[in-house]
Amino acid sequence: MAKKSKDKSARHNGSSDGSAVELMAIAEGPLGNVMREAEAMNEELIELRRQFHMHPELSQQETQTAKMIASYLHGLGPGVEVQEGIGGTGVMGIIKGGAGDGKTIMVRADIDGLPINEANDVPYRSVNQGAMHACGHDTHITVALATAKLINQHRHELRGTAKFCFQPAEERSGGAAPMIKEGVMTKPTVDRVIGFHVWGDLSVGQVGIRSGPVMAGVEEFVITVKGRGGHGAHPDQTVDPIVTAAHIVTALQSIVARNVDPVDTAIVTVGKIEAGTAFNIIPDECKLTGTLRFFSEDVHKLIVKRVKEVAKGVAKAMGADADVQLTHELTMIPVDNDPEVTEWMKGIAAQTIGADHVVYPNQTLGGDDMALFLKEAPGCYLFIGGRNAKKGFDAPHHNAHFNVDEGCLPIGLALMAGGVLDFLR
Ligand SMILES: [Zn+2]
Ligand SMILES: [Zn+2]
Repeated sequence: MAKKSKDKSARHNGSSDGSAVELMAIAEGPLGNVMREAEAMNEELIELRRQFHMHPELSQQETQTAKMIASYLHGLGPGVEVQEGIGGTGVMGIIKGGAGDGKTIMVRADIDGLPINEANDVPYRSVNQGAMHACGHDTHITVALATAKLINQHRHELRGTAKFCFQPAEERSGGAAPMIKEGVMTKPTVDRVIGFHVWGDLSVGQVGIRSGPVMAGVEEFVITVKGRGGHGAHPDQTVDPIVTAAHIVTALQSIVARNVDPVDTAIVTVGKIEAGTAFNIIPDECKLTGTLRFFSEDVHKLIVKRVKEVAKGVAKAMGADADVQLTHELTMIPVDNDPEVTEWMKGIAAQTIGADHVVYPNQTLGGDDMALFLKEAPGCYLFIGGRNAKKGFDAPHHNAHFNVDEGCLPIGLALMAGGVLDFLR
């Protein structure tokens, strides 16, 4: 096990005001030097991150982002094989160790931005109107690229293969599956997969590592309530789908409150209601669109069954009909961290940034298609703290004011590079 150095050497936090903050003493041990190597790349990390931050692109449209990633990887020299256009705009970097054959580890980073106009007044503000890195995927790209650079410098010591997966369209859950279909987990077969999400719920300097399901499974549903339209002044001659839909929305709340085991977690949210054309017309139909969140397949099955029963049953009671469709566009399984790999990653964290920076994070009901890679190979998805309220970096993810303390970048790099080095040495 690593022990912490006594001198409490302060590290630069990489903030835009350039002030040095004592965040962590650098751990010692076989991987202790990785944090120092990561620190040495701090300026490059910040510059890279700001480049990506300034040029966000929406899901499945990440063409410039992919070009920037590929050109950085090409720039690392002939030791890095670069594959482009995988499953759309996906990019892979592949580094074969110089010390012989061995296992394969993959670092995964998602690369897409969100349809938000950035409200931050920073020099590196998004120049692409209507697009913003408001989830922090710019930091994921940056850290994965820097990890490839650092690993390439250690190539001669390594056995086996390091893969770097730059995955598009996480926000639409559409990027991981086509990359897997195109074989990114094979040739050579990936034995272990790691990645992280920069996390606004954790302060910079904290790293959340948790075994088992850490992010929720996601299912999208559409309920179409079919009534009979007519004059708003003669409701007796109609079957009002809006009133019916209102009862359904209320009744759906009983699924989590009264059907799901209280020690389990689930969400049934209606996010969109569409009906009607004018104040005095009762329409024929009302459409409810919503999302289900869950951490286990049993709970998933239960809430799907109950949504159907409640919607149809309430509609029937009101003299209407309800058609329930599960639309698979945003369907995702939970992000499930392998217990053994999670313990190993905790060890990597202890040896790089120090065990006292590791926290046990809450599960989140957000989804992430990292889940699909973790289904193919055992792995661990970490949360790296990005919040710094003192500097105003405390807006939630997907908010127009979202930003992170760039001190998270060398921490992410030390953890990812530490994992790859330890696995392939
Ligand atoms: Zn997001
Ligand atoms: Zn995200």
